Amino acid sequence: ASVTLSDKERAMAATDLDLDVLIAGAGPTGLMLANEMARRSSTSAIRYQVVDAAPGPSTHTKAMAVQVRTLEVYDDLGLVDKALEEGFKMNKFSVYGGEGKQLSAELGALNGLSPYPTMLVYPQFQNEALLLESIRQNHWDTAKGGRRRARGRGGKGSQQDAPITYHTKLVGFEKKADHVEARLQDTETMQTRVVRTKFLVGCDGAHSAVRHGLNLGFGGKKYPQEFVLLDCELEKEEPCDFLKPGEAFASMEHAMFVIFPYKDGSYRLIMSRAADKEGAEPTLDEVQASCDLLPFKLQIKAPRWLTQFSLHARSVDQYSDSDHRVFVAGDAAHIHSPVGGQGMNTGLQDSYNLGWKLAMVINGTAGPKASAMLLSSYNDERHRVGKKLLERTDNGFSVVTARGWTFRIMRSLIFSFLGKRLLIPMFMTAVPKWVSQIFITYRRSKISVGHLPRATFKAGDRLPFVKLTKGGEELSTFDILRGPHFTLLFVARSEEDLQDVPAALESSEPLQGEGLTCAVLAVDGFDGSSSAPDTVQVYSVADAPAFAKTFGILSGTILVRPDNYVGFMGNAKDLGSYVKMLTN
Ligand SMILES: Cc1cc2nc3c(=O)[nH]c(=O)nc-3n(C[C@H](O)[C@H](O)[C@H](O)COP(=O)(O)OP(=O)(O)OC[C@H]3O[C@@H](n4cnc5c(N)ncnc54)[C@H](O)[C@@H]3O)c2cc1C
Repeated sequence: ASVTLSDKERAMAATDLDLDVLIAGAGPTGLMLANEMARRSSTSAIRYQVVDAAPGPSTHTKAMAVQVRTLEVYDDLGLVDKALEEGFKMNKFSVYGGEGKQLSAELGALNGLSPYPTMLVYPQFQNEALLLESIRQNHWDTAKGGRRRARGRGGKGSQQDAPITYHTKLVGFEKKADHVEARLQDTETMQTRVVRTKFLVGCDGAHSAVRHGLNLGFGGKKYPQEFVLLDCELEKEEPCDFLKPGEAFASMEHAMFVIFPYKDGSYRLIMSRAADKEGAEPTLDEVQASCDLLPFKLQIKAPRWLTQFSLHARSVDQYSDSDHRVFVAGDAAHIHSPVGGQGMNTGLQDSYNLGWKLAMVINGTAGPKASAMLLSSYNDERHRVGKKLLERTDNGFSVVTARGWTFRIMRSLIFSFLGKRLLIPMFMTAVPKWVSQIFITYRRSKISVGHLPRATFKAGDRLPFVKLTKGGEELSTFDILRGPHFTLLFVARSEEDLQDVPAALESSEPLQGEGLTCAVLAVDGFDGSSSAPDTVQVYSVADAPAFAKTFGILSGTILVRPDNYVGFMGNAKDLGSYVKMLTN
């Protein structure tokens, strides 16, 4: 429960609010939210701070898979090239079913649906380092420019302190009428201090102090199995038909045993434990004994990280308090089995959804009514995603850990003629679509409005990827979206379709403070350059049939949110009432 502050602590609190956003936890979720604040600093000087109880950034691999949607977000943040350079694409694996039965499969790529159509193996600590570096870069850039701006306008000024503090634990908080008083403890000196913040976001992991402070339920279940994870090098017989370079391997013969490759040639081993070992410290001998049961010779070398873990499937019933001052995101809001590599990616998307909404409220772009709606939409949109995720990962987990007769039936089905010809190919197409997270939609959200007849997507969907050209350069919708701004798109095949553009630009004026990029997507050979206002960039559709398949429309107005989901679609004339709804 929330702590009550002592008089001394209260006296320590500053008279003005210290922060706009206090982020508890510098895991991937907290660092993504901080990035969302940091990249807006050059225009809006949001005062944010991340605190983490740990002494410094984590060095453990933990999550390995960076899904397609996360790569798209990294593109939006300008970080994707580094991630692609440091990670590697893995889409092949083989499964051994015992009795000499083996099959190899390749996960289908989402070609044409995303500029980054395959999952990337890129361990969690590298994701964290990438995000951390980006925050620091933004912070110091802004600090330099901010000093100049602050002198010029005599305003808020820049943050001079580093935005991430380790050794600092959130030990409690108290909600006030218009702010939150958070109590932070230095984990070295054990001294506490009070920080007054407009918003508090708990990105503080599975044992979240923020979730406890809000008394949020975390219903679900604990799985009975225990698992061991080992990061190490492997010595294997060469050539090895089972474990090929750059491919994953799973054995269904005895207990679950999976091997994933890392880019540097080392591996992650995950195995379910025998019941008599549960609760005991894992040992290399235990893992080697499981390796010895595999159909090929495998010797563990150079162990780097050995740990055991059990799994839960749990979710909060609300992602914030009823006043929308305190939020939870990432593992603080949902935990589940690692099947499908969704945990870290979902936390990143939680923050990506919340970040722009908080920014609009803090910047004053959203008035009181709009603020309440925007902030409550975080719960509406992400709670549904989290709930579905728990169901899917639970089903997936039941399949991979099935034992006894269920396991035997499944194995004979998978390795049957029908399985190899029908089930496996279906699986290889369906799984990448699900795990990619690009089909996540917020169609039922209050802030997804309007429709265009014949459009192949709806308000609340991620704006589809489609190739474009401009001045002979090959581009895509993602080049227009890149950055923290709103994007207003006019799909047009004639001058007539652009008639209402000036009125639409005027009605979208209240969003200018958040950044607004306007563009015409000219279809059917239309050259919109002479008819579009100067402030609107004109792009031509590169591949008309692909555009028809992906967009389905030849005219219409689309307002894309800063997280690249379609907020509004319809006629330019109707845009004004949507913008009012987002800002009043
Ligand atoms: C062994 C292991 C293997 C995994 N494998 C996978 C995988 O293959 N694929 C996958 O998708 N996911 C995997 N996960 C899950 C994935 O790591 C999590 O989903 C992800 O870390 C969630 O990120 P987060 O930022 O929400 O929370 P965390 O990463 O847990 O970060 C929370 C941060 O908050 C800090 N903190 C906690 N309490 C406080 C406090 N009171 N005050 C201040 N700071 C606090 C912590 O120090 C920590 O830095 C694995 C996890 C583990 C442990």
